[in-house]
Parts: sequence; structure tokens; C-alpha cells
Amino acid sequence: MFRSSTFLKANLKNVRFNSSLPLSVKLNLPNGISYEQPTGLFINNEWVKPLRGETLEVTSPSTEEVITKVYQGLEDDVDVAVAAAKNAFETTSWATGDPTARVRALLKLADLYEEHAETLASIEVLDNGKCIANARGDVALSANYLRSAAGFADKMHGEFIETGNTHLNYTRKEAIGVVGAIVAWNFPLMLLSWKLGPALAAGNTMVIKSAEATPLSALFVANLIKEAGFPAGVVNFVTGLGPTVGERISTHPDIGKITFTGSTLVGKRIMRNASETVKKVTLELGGKSANIVFPDADIDRAVENIYPSIFYNTGEVCSAGSRLYVHEDIYDGFISRLLEKVKTIKMGNPFDESVVMGAQNSVAQFKKILKYIEIGNAEGAKLLTGGKRHGNKGYFVEPTIFTDVKPNMRIVQEEIFGPVLAVSKFSSTDEVIKAANDSTYGLASGIHTSNINTIAKVSSQLKAGTVFVNTYNDFNPAVPFGGFKQSGFGKEMGKDALDSYIQIKAVRAGIY
Ligand code: NAD
Repeated sequence: MFRSSTFLKANLKNVRFNSSLPLSVKLNLPNGISYEQPTGLFINNEWVKPLRGETLEVTSPSTEEVITKVYQGLEDDVDVAVAAAKNAFETTSWATGDPTARVRALLKLADLYEEHAETLASIEVLDNGKCIANARGDVALSANYLRSAAGFADKMHGEFIETGNTHLNYTRKEAIGVVGAIVAWNFPLMLLSWKLGPALAAGNTMVIKSAEATPLSALFVANLIKEAGFPAGVVNFVTGLGPTVGERISTHPDIGKITFTGSTLVGKRIMRNASETVKKVTLELGGKSANIVFPDADIDRAVENIYPSIFYNTGEVCSAGSRLYVHEDIYDGFISRLLEKVKTIKMGNPFDESVVMGAQNSVAQFKKILKYIEIGNAEGAKLLTGGKRHGNKGYFVEPTIFTDVKPNMRIVQEEIFGPVLAVSKFSSTDEVIKAANDSTYGLASGIHTSNINTIAKVSSQLKAGTVFVNTYNDFNPAVPFGGFKQSGFGKEMGKDALDSYIQIKAVRAGIY
């Protein structure tokens, strides 16, 4: 049952959960940065404790030490947040007023990301385990994306439709209402920002759940939301677990749209849950992307693009090029060049400026990756390099390459979501297209060639939402990203992202 705004007011005013954890804690990071980390739920531009929830321990993947605790909400906290978001949508001018207010707030938020760039990047390093250079890249792309999305707020143009002098016809692009956003832990700030930008530019209000493993940057952003001038209730954060907070968001009758980034398994459940109240859904799910190196490729450039395509962000990238196909004519030379490059990867303390590979995000992820390496060995793939834990503290896994893989091996078919590359040799273009498309996923793909005909032919035949050509994981705010097949549907970034957060109303007026 939907709770009224009286319920909302009553519950926001109470300190509801009797815990000694304060609503913010001072954190001192290993790189000398100190800041106030919020720990509560952010509802109606206020920090509150959950109605009856508990706390979550947040662990640093690179040290295995507890960083802090934060509050976790439950289903009734989601109800309060949804009531706040619904109230803001229906009773303020956020959606229907001058759109430049939305432009201004999003631009200010982007500026605040940059003002706090080093703190935000450091939070990601601490919480996610990624290296500082990767984290700085996430902050920069997130800020630029917010700016790009802000530009759409006053360009939600409908169409005038000519049907003769008897009628006036036009369409309006309208916000949907309350958007529920649920994100994964591999790019906590960036995935959040990919949803904040278009949802808010379009005039929706939001209830957001960060991943339970990485709640800290979202809570830091909540403070910036208030400072950027978003009206109370427009953006709300409820930290919590998938089966409680996530389930409630995906089933709540007053949420009109779910935008989800995570696994295909949970994505399917979200789709089922959303069907009960016919919510609109965007799903950004898993991948097992193929990278193809043709014999006419610029080999230096291809090596430079391929090794980060799988080892960037410790391989915890949905679009990671985890299947590599190399033409037989260049195979031996290419693989030895790739191996040379991989041997230069420095792992370790992710705050160290010279480190390029940090820790896997959680003990569960760490164990899953090592299990897949065991499976690869048992399946008869040849372990070229890596295959073990790095060090004895923190969830570090060596960059790992398997060659001589067969199409039906689990390490070729299943998403590992870690630094594990499966390499095959191919001899013809038709054969490699077939192999690349032999996957239930279709998120991204890569081709490396200097032949324009190969680019045109192969990119049209690959069944993937993105085809990178002579580059990889090279994201730009103006270029849409999103999957085919079981990698999901709906786009993030680019002009197309906005379409996921609007509904089109047709107006047909008889003239007399
Ligand atoms: P996950 O599906 O387990 O969790 C993602 C989010 O869903 C988390 O916030 C989690 O709490 C929540 N969740 C879990 N159960 C839920 C439920 N029953 N109802 C509602 N929410 C629930 O995924 P993960 O392991 O955290 O993330 C890794 C996956 O995300 C990989 O498959 C990766 O490819 C994918 N991913 C995709 C993209 C993309 O843009 N396509 C980007 C990043 C990650």
C-alpha cells in the first residue's frame, strides 16, 4: 500500500533507528585526504536513519579491512523515499517549470564533482579497489557526462504533425515520474551518473540504490545534490541489499521506470517484477565481448588497445574484451607482444600512482575469478600467464591469459568479470564473425584492421550494441552505450539515453 505524505512527514522527522552510528563519520584515507563520509539514507534532502534497518560494513578490497559502517534501509524506507520523490514530481515545478532550472542544477553538480574530484576518486579507490588513475578517469567522464545530459533538458522537442487544415497535431516529450535506479559496484560513481544525467534532465525524480559493496561515493554525491540546488525529494538514496531495497524498488507501484545496471540474472528478475505494474525498464547487463585482430591491423596500436580492454579496472568491466580472436597469420608474433605488455602491468596498492591494476572488488568476486581459472585449467585451455592470487592480503588476481580455448568452454561462454582473457586463432572473416556472435551476450565488440571494407562488413554483422574499431572501451558522453541480446536494452549516454526517461504524448486537436 502506498503511504501518504503524512506518513512521509512523520517519518522524516523522527530519529527512527536507535543506533550509535552517527550520520557522518570522518575518514582519513591512505593518500592523506580526510573528509566527512555520510552514513545515512538521503531522503527529501535530509540525512535520516532507517526506520528499522541495520548497518552495513564497508570493506576495503585492497586491505580487507573495514572502512566504516553505513546504514542500510529496508522496504519501508523505500516507501518513504518514493513518497518524497512522488511528492516532488507532483507538487513542484521540477518537471513542468522552466527547464533551465534542471540545466543549472546538473551543471552545478558536474562542477562539484570536479571541485571534489580527488576526494571522489579516492573514495572509489578505497571502496572499489580500482587504481587511482582509473578512478580519476571515472570522475572526469562522470562530470562531462552530466554536462552533456544537462544540454537535453531544454531540447525535449516534440513534433508538429501535418494532417490537413482540420486538425492541429503535435507530440510532447514528458517525464515519466519517479525513476528507480539500481547500480552495480564496478563503476559506482559513473554508473550512477549515467542514470542521474538523463533521468533528471528529462524532469523525473529518483530513488537510487547503490551496490551494497560500494555505497560510499553515492552517499558523498548525495551531499553534492543538495549543494547543487536540486529541490527536496528530487533525488533520494536508500542504501541497502538487493533482496530488500532492490526488490521494493522494482515492485513499487509508484515507480514508473526502473533503470538497472547489473547481472543478467538479476536483470531478468527485475523485468519480471516490473511487469506487475508495467514499469518501463532499461537493463544494462553482463557481457562476454569479442575482440578481433585482423592480419592487416596496426599491431602496435592493437596491442595498446587490447591489453587494457581486459585488464583495465581489474577486468571488472561489463564490456571487457574477454574473448580475443587473432588471425593465424599474425598469431604467434601478436601473442608474444601482448604477453610482453602484460608482464609490465604493476599490481598492488591502488593508491600508488604507478600501479595500474588494483584489487577485485569483493571476496566473493575474488573467489569466483579463481574458480573460473581452475575451470579453464580443467577444461584443457593453456595457461599462458597469471592464474594466481597476487600477494597474500587484499583481493588481487594476476592478469591471466588462456590460449588454445575451444568455443564451448565455460571460460569462453560465461562472464568471469575479472582479469581473464580467452584467446583463439582464426583463419577466415566469416568464421570469426560466427565465433564472435556465438554468445548469449551482445554488449560490445572490437575489430582491429586497416581495411575499410572489413570495418564496414564486420561491424554490420556483429551482434553487439557497440563495435569499437581500432580502439576499445573508449567511451564518450555523446556516444550511446547499451546491449543487444541478454546484455539488455535501452541506451546510456548520447542522445538516445533521454528516450529511456520520457514518454511521448500525442495531442490531436480538431479546429473549428
Ligand atoms: P548484481 O546483479 O548482483 O547486482 C547489481 C545490483 O542489483 C546491486 O545493487 C544489487 O544489490 C542489486 N540487486 C541484487 N539482487 C536484486 C534484486 N533481487 N532486486 C533488485 N536489485 C537487486 O550484479 P553485480 O554482480 O553487482 O554486478 C556485476 C554485473 O553487472 C556484471 O554482470 C556486469 O557485466 C554488469 N554490468 C553491466 C554494465 C552495463 O552497462 N551493461 C555496467 C556495469 C556492470
